[in-house]
Order: sequence, then structure tokens, then C-alpha cells
Amino acid sequence: MRFFSYFNKFLRSHPSSAKLLVLSSISGGGLVAYADLPSDKEKPSLALEQEETRKKRVLVLGTGWAGISFLKDLDISSYDVQVVSPRNYFAFTPLLPSVTCGTVEARSIVEPVRNIVKKRNGEVKFWEAECLKVDAVNKKVICRSYVNENLPGKNEFSLEYDYLVVAVGAQVNTFNTPGVEENCYFLKEVEDAQSIRRAVIDCFEKAVLPELTEEERRINLHFVIVGGGPTGVEFAAELHDFVHEDLVKIYPSVKDLVAISLIQSGDHILNTYDERISSFAEQKFQRDGIEVLTGHRVLSVSDRLIDVKAKSTGQNVSIPHGMVVWSTGVGTRPVVKDFMEQIGQGNRKVLATDEWLRVKGCDDVYGLGDCTTVDQKKIMEDISAIFEAADKDKSGTLTIEEFKDVIEDVTIRYPQVELYLQNNHLSDITDLLKGADGNERDEVDIEEFKLALANVDKQTKSLPATAQVAAQQGAYLARCFNKREKCKAEPEGPRKFRSGGRHEFRPFRYRHLGQFAPLGGEQAAAELPGDWVSVGHSTQWLWYSIYASKQVSWRTRYLVVGDWTRRFVFGRDSSRI
Ligand code: FAD
Repeated sequence: MRFFSYFNKFLRSHPSSAKLLVLSSISGGGLVAYADLPSDKEKPSLALEQEETRKKRVLVLGTGWAGISFLKDLDISSYDVQVVSPRNYFAFTPLLPSVTCGTVEARSIVEPVRNIVKKRNGEVKFWEAECLKVDAVNKKVICRSYVNENLPGKNEFSLEYDYLVVAVGAQVNTFNTPGVEENCYFLKEVEDAQSIRRAVIDCFEKAVLPELTEEERRINLHFVIVGGGPTGVEFAAELHDFVHEDLVKIYPSVKDLVAISLIQSGDHILNTYDERISSFAEQKFQRDGIEVLTGHRVLSVSDRLIDVKAKSTGQNVSIPHGMVVWSTGVGTRPVVKDFMEQIGQGNRKVLATDEWLRVKGCDDVYGLGDCTTVDQKKIMEDISAIFEAADKDKSGTLTIEEFKDVIEDVTIRYPQVELYLQNNHLSDITDLLKGADGNERDEVDIEEFKLALANVDKQTKSLPATAQVAAQQGAYLARCFNKREKCKAEPEGPRKFRSGGRHEFRPFRYRHLGQFAPLGGEQAAAELPGDWVSVGHSTQWLWYSIYASKQVSWRTRYLVVGDWTRRFVFGRDSSRI
């Protein structure tokens, strides 16, 4: 102790020696504890300097659509990037239904994360682990390795960050329906698709065993799918093709006993699509012999029976089944729930971000993809501030010219305005200011202005949980990170109506590029931008070309196209491996 107090005095009287000591301790690590002491005024500034010059640490949780899209576009050389995910690969989820029946192989739709990040001009550290907890106050996360626990070394570790990107996706939602967890198959991960493929073959192998009654064979071959959304519908179509193109040839004795049922609680399947697509799908399934039970709610599932209630009659029915695939939407992961509790979002269902994808209620945390929802600001919350900013001459009324001055900022900040105009067939935003009689007004006061925009917020829509949204969000956030310094100096975002100044970046804007629904028998339906609907064989070829082009690497593109070709020539493989 006496040595340290003598040393302390010496350093106070010789500040330059103190600097030397700090430097040598940083390089050698020997006297770090002493060097940290605030023995003179120069040390904190050095520490600050080092803090400023070191690259900011970006920690990404998840290697799905959002996480990978962010990493692919991020300028790695500007950041110290770390990635945590229990999956050391990216999975092309739109082709998962094809994996359930062997149309494509599981390995054809995955790409190792390390392959993806090694192509970047900088180092990205990847940890195969699950994030257990986010500690937003101390800016760190606690993780647990997913690697074999028996290997030497600790399994839990913590990582610090300057910026955290939460892109952990969502988990299956059973809506707490009894028996679902234990008795249903899910279709969310690659392993799920592989389990379904084995289970389908099991049902056929069981059905052809000797000494079974016909009724038992029939039950084993009753495949039930719960959920009439795109995943459930696509799986039903894939299964129908697998059975009728391949399995009936190798299990001819039971080919007439196979049944596929699709249970949907709503009135129509594919009810988020254009109704032309929805009715085309229902008619096609009817022709194919796929039973569609709309307006039925599942009450419980056991290993042999699925209990459903018909909404119209209130009647309960027990349906025997060979296997049930549950595909009814997604819920929040426990790690995200816990994080939401910490930051005051405990009463929400999904993690909320603002329009710049910043998680609400904490700093430097961003949220992307299925685990989040963008909380779009309502225009009516800012209406007075917008009016005040636009009313340049402070006359208490707004002329068309004055309104035109803020229009661009308004439409960027509140995208629901554009949707409102589109849906009401208004060609120009100034049409909003027309009077009730449809005639143009020279100026409007605040009350008339509020009235004109009163219905705009009703157009606000939450974004769907799709790969398209997740990928666009990842790319958007990467662009913001890449332009961080530039936009600090020259903000490119819209004007801040309440506080003045401008936002650094433009808010995230989703561009819907359309959606497909493969319906089996080489037919698909597509809803494309501009209210364009296409169904049939040519749409299936469009689906093939788009999904081939969207593959994350040339390797997977080659494998997927190869699998499609193999299926055309040799059919699907029914080995139970
Ligand atoms: P995910 O892609 O699910 O990725 C989440 C990542 O987080 C994964 O890498 C996961 O391992 C990781 N993770 C999970 N927990 C943790 C944790 N605790 N710590 C760290 N990492 C964690 N969308 C379309 O647009 N078109 C389609 O045709 C389509 N078809 C689909 C078919 C199926 C069968 C399924 C299941 C989905 C389909 N989707 C489709 C939806 C699409 O897959 C999702 O919207 C998309 O995957 C969401 O991306 P994400 O990055 O948010 O989550």
C-alpha cells in the first residue's frame, strides 16, 4: 500500500509519466487497475479518445431473413460486428413446404452463416448460441452456447454492444390449445419440415402393415392441416402432389384410403389474399379432393383425434387423424417477452419500434422482422404542429401554397396519407383540402384542416410477418448504419414538426412486391403490385424463376434448381431417413 501511495504522489507531480504508464499498461496489461485510477486530469480524456476512436460494436441477434439481410448490406469495415444465433445457417423459409415432401432437399435451402459473412470486407464474429437475456441498461446480452454441453469450457457468456439489432423472429403460436404442443407437427424450422417428411412416410408404412382393419388404415392416412394461411395451403398442395404423383405408385393397396383435410377458423382460406385467389384455391382444392373445413375452430388435439367446433352450428366434432400439422400464425419468443417487460412494453404482444426501427423505450436497440411491429405515428397526434409549421405567415389559415410546402415531409413521415389518397382515388394531396362540395378552397383553418385529415390514420396497416418485410427492414437498417456519420451532418429525413430540425434518416417504408401461393399440380396464384392477379400454370413458372433468383447464393440456386429437375425426372424420394 505504501508503495502505491508513494507512486500516486509521484504521478501527480509528473503527469507525463502517468500517460506513459497508462500506455504501457494498455499494451502490457500489467498495471491496468492502477492506471484506471483518476490520478490526474489527462487520463479521462485519453480514455475518452480511445472510446471515440474504437469501432462501435454492433451485435446482431438472429440469422434469419432480417439478420442476414442486414449483415449482407452493412459496411463491415466501419463496425466491430458480432452475430449470435442458435442456427449457424440461413434458411430459405418459402421453400420449407417443399422440403416436407422431398420436392427439394433440406440442405438445398440453407447456407452456412460463415459462408455468407466471409465474403465481406471485414471480420464478422459468429457465435452459435441463443440469447437468453438482453440487458439494455448495461448494454450487454447473456447467451448460452448451443454446442454440445459435454465439451470442455463454459456454456454461458455475455457480450457487450454499442448497437444491438434484435432479429430473433417469432415462434409457433398454439393459442394454448390443449394437446397441440404434444400431438401436432409444426412447420417453422428446417427440422420441422424434415420431421413432417418422415411422419408422412410413417403413416403410409403403418397403413400397409398386415392385420389392420380398413378403418385403421384409413385413419392412419388422414392428414389434417390446421390453418388456411399460405403455409398451410402450400403444405396441403405439396402433400396432395406427393401422394398422387409418387406415393400411390408405391403404396397401391391403400391409395383410395388417403384423405387430406384443411381446417380454417375464418370463412375462407388464403383470406389475406385477393378474393379471386382465395376462391380459385378453394375450387381447386375441391376438385383435388382436399376437404376444406372453413369456419371451424380446433378445441383440442389428442394422438388420435382432433376436436373441432363448427362456428355456424356450434356443433362439436371429433375427427380421427393419422397426423396433424399446425400452422396458425406466430407468437413472441420468451427472450423478447422478457426484454419487453424491462423496457415498459410488457402490455404489448409484439416488440414495438418506431418508423426508424428503433425499439421504443430504450437506446441503441433496433428491432427487425417477425419479432417486431412498426408503431406508425398518427398524423392526428401532430396535426396542430403540422398546421403551425405550414402556416408561414402565421395568419391562422393555410393556403394551398403553404400546404404544398410541407407536403413532401408529410407524406414521408406519415405514409398512411399516400394510402388514403390511393384508396379514395384522389390524384393529388391538395385534393384533401377541397370542401365537402368537392370545390377547391383558397384556405382552411385548423378545424377544417383537422377534418380534412381526420380519416387518414384509419389507413395505417401493420406490416405482415413475411420474409419480404424482414429482408427490406434489414437492408434499410444497414443503409442507415452505413450513412450514420454523413446523415448526422446532413440529415436526409423529413422535418420534425414538433421540435423543429430534421430527422437524420428517412423512415422505413415497406414496398410490397406481391405474394405467391403455390396450389399444387404445377399451378400457382400470384398477387402482384397494381392489383394484378395471376393464376395457373404460367404463374407456377413465374414462381420457379422468382424463387430461384431469390436464393441467397449460387450454390443454393444450383441445388434448388437441380432438385426441381430431379423431381420432374425421377419423382420424389420416399425413403424414411
Ligand atoms: P427468422 O427468419 O425466423 O429468423 C430468426 C433468427 O433468429 C433465426 O436465425 C433463429 O435461429 C434466431 N433466433 C431465435 N431465437 C434466438 C435467440 N434467443 N437468440 C439469438 N437468435 C435467435 N414469407 C414470405 O415473404 N414469403 C413466403 O413465401 C414465406 N413462406 C414461408 C413458409 C414457411 C413454412 C414459413 C415458416 C414462413 C414463411 N414466410 C414467408 C415467413 C418468413 O419466413 C418470415 O416472415 C421470416 O423468416 C421472418 O424473418 P426474421 O428474420 O424476422 O425471422
